[in-house]
This record gives sequence, C-alpha cells and structure tokens, in this order.
Amino acid sequence: MKRFDIVVGDITCSDAEAIVNAANTSLLGGSGVDGAIHRAASQSLLEECRALGGCETGKAKLTKGYRLPAKYVIHTPGPIWQGGGLGEPALLASCYRSCLSLAAASGIETVDFPSISTGIYGYPLPQAATVALRAIMDWLSEHELPRRVRMVCHTEAVATIYRQTWNLWYAGEKADRI
Ligand code: ADP
Repeated sequence: MKRFDIVVGDITCSDAEAIVNAANTSLLGGSGVDGAIHRAASQSLLEECRALGGCETGKAKLTKGYRLPAKYVIHTPGPIWQGGGLGEPALLASCYRSCLSLAAASGIETVDFPSISTGIYGYPLPQAATVALRAIMDWLSEHELPRRVRMVCHTEAVATIYRQTWNLWYAGEKADRI
C-alpha cells in the first residue's frame, strides 16, 4: 500500500479510520469542512466536542465519528493567516504533527487530512502545501503509524497545487521510500 497520496474528494465520505477536521479553537463547528463534518456526523459530535472545552491552535483532540464512515475525527484548529510573520508556518506544521502523533498514539492506521487553514483562514495554498507535505513526509519517514495518510483536496485545483509541491520536493529518490 502506498503510504501517502493526494486525492480529490469530499472528506466526509472518506473511508479512512480517522479524518481530520480543520476546526476552530471552540471546537463547536463552523463553516467549510468543519460545518460539513459536523452535519454529516450528527449532533452527537457537537455534544462530545462541547465536553472537550476547546483546543489551542496547532494542537489536536480526538472524538468519535458518529454517522461518518470514519470511526474517528481528529480536530485541529489551524492558524489564521496574518501575513506569515506571526508563527503561522510553525503552527500549521504543528497541526499536522499533532494529528499524526495523536493518531499513532491511538493505534489509528489510516488518516485523511483536508487542506488545513487554506479556506476561510486564508493561508496561501502553495505555502500551506509545502508546510503540510513536509510535516507529513517527515513524520512518515520516522514512524510506522499511521500506515497510510492522504491529503483529500476538495477540488482538482487544490490537488494540482499539492501535486506540484510534492513533485518539487519529493519526486525522485525520496519517493521510493514512501
Ligand atoms: P480553514 O478555516 O482551516 O481555512 P476551511 O474549511 O475554510 O478551513 O477550508 C479548508 C479547506 O477545506 C479548503 O481547501 C476547502 O476547500 C476544503 N474543504 C471544504 N469542504 C471540504 C470537504 N467536504 N472535504 C474536503 N475538503 C473540504
């Protein structure tokens, strides 16, 4: 099995064991992928999230997936883009690492990510893709779990940026190891 892939789709339909939610710090739902995940999972997800008492930017918390095909949801609030000088790259990398670390510690084998922070939060896509791919590939080169990670891009245009970024940094020799 390929350990990493970039695909186009709706993450609420994902067959991964865990999907990641680009949440906000309240964990009480919002727009974009967050809203879609809460709608698909049912009100029970909101109730479990309410009991968690929020989450800091760059950290991650785990819930069940309820009516989603995914057994778990890993919620991570991404940074709001403010020009890049306020630690946004480190916070975004931390989102990916925190989710992967939580998944591994929970024995989760397959994880699907959306493109965190690149919607309402305004993180420029090429920069976000570089941070995301580096964090994921670094993790996979050092850990056995999760066995498979995918970037689930909502549109072909987003997937193209991720594929181009992947080709730029990881095509060739390094790719053989993943
Ligand atoms: P943020 O607030 O972190 O920017 P958004 O939900 O606004 O989060 O956007 C993050 C990314 O999620 C965007 O690329 C958006 O196109 C994508 N997205 C929105 N809905 C879905 C979905 N159902 N499945 C996968 N990706 C989605």
